[in-house]
Amino acid sequence: MDGRHSDILVVGGGPAGLHAAFYAGWRGLQVQVLEARPVLGGQLQALYPDKVVYDIPGLPAVVASEVVSNLVAQLSGLPVSVQVNATARHLSAHNGGWRIATDDATFTARAVILAPGLGALTARAARVAGAEVHPGVRTEVPEAAALSGKHVLVVGGVPQAVQSALELVDAGAHVTLTHRRAGFRGHPAQLARLDQLRMEGRLEIIAPALMDRLTSEDAVLLEHGTERRVQADTVLLLNGYLPDLSPVQTWPLNWNGDYVPDGTGGQTVLPGVFVAGDAAYSGGSFKLISVGLAQAAIAANHAVHHVNPELKVRPGHSSEKWLAPRPRGPGEDGV
Ligand SMILES: Cc1cc2nc3c(=O)[nH]c(=O)nc-3n(C[C@H](O)[C@H](O)[C@H](O)COP(=O)(O)OP(=O)(O)OC[C@H]3O[C@@H](n4cnc5c(N)ncnc54)[C@H](O)[C@@H]3O)c2cc1C
Repeated sequence: MDGRHSDILVVGGGPAGLHAAFYAGWRGLQVQVLEARPVLGGQLQALYPDKVVYDIPGLPAVVASEVVSNLVAQLSGLPVSVQVNATARHLSAHNGGWRIATDDATFTARAVILAPGLGALTARAARVAGAEVHPGVRTEVPEAAALSGKHVLVVGGVPQAVQSALELVDAGAHVTLTHRRAGFRGHPAQLARLDQLRMEGRLEIIAPALMDRLTSEDAVLLEHGTERRVQADTVLLLNGYLPDLSPVQTWPLNWNGDYVPDGTGGQTVLPGVFVAGDAAYSGGSFKLISVGLAQAAIAANHAVHHVNPELKVRPGHSSEKWLAPRPRGPGEDGV
């Protein structure tokens, strides 16, 4: 049984996928984005949300996570739906268009824009003694509100560990944050807040400390060689991510290693299937945000024309067209 239908399916919620969704949505088409991770943003959000990026046109220095927030904000008001925790696995022809199956749903569309980047960013496996006996070990961050009132041990020095610890405190969890090194990575504002919460006694930090083992009810840390037992209903092991392209590499796209050959407009060998971003061969392995955004704009507009030939490939200029919510120009004080 086929699930949701849209005009265009975008595989991957990184910068290329989000910008492709923007363009197709802005042209008035229904867009469905499928993202394997629980959150959007691709490599920027998973691998370096705290780092400053200097080579995005018009933004001299911007934190990667803010690039993501802005790409997402740009979708506001457009006919774009997002499905997270959805890894696109199978592609098949359907009624002149395409059907994509994830683990628990199918999606159909007239065109597909593939923007998988380096691959589905999956959490690194947890290798902690006793992980199999503790009932609450997680490697992906759950909805913070679900852990309200619980004792949560967050393990890791990556930005996700800091962000999760803050969100969990806000949600009313009793949080302990630990890492084998003394320092944590994160947005400066988040690091400052972490310090403030620690000083207020609203969050405990045990670092540097080694995670020695988990038992069925708590965690045992080694701090300066001394054992410390930490109460933990949930243990979040946040170790970063590994990319996995294999779910889409079975698709018959004449893959050239990690790249999909593309012609004019990002068109692949399958009619109505386009590619953009790090995975597009035409990018010449540049793997840059600015390159991916340009490819996304081109692929999305070709996909729009493929779906509805009455719509021209070239989109015209956004500055000349109405786009809700319309920002006011100089001298304009209302609609
Ligand atoms: C540490 C680091 C620093 C960087 N710094 C810069 C910089 O300063 N400037 C710059 O221009 N570039 C930089 N880059 C490169 C830049 O991040 C990439 O070029 C960019 O993220 C590519 O965007 P994308 O949308 O093609 O892919 P990605 O960002 O990789 O996003 C792809 C998304 O698709 C999802 N996905 C994959 N497969 C599936 C599937 N089967 N189903 C559903 N979802 C799927 C993934 O989970 C991911 O979220 C940096 C990269 C790294 C690792």
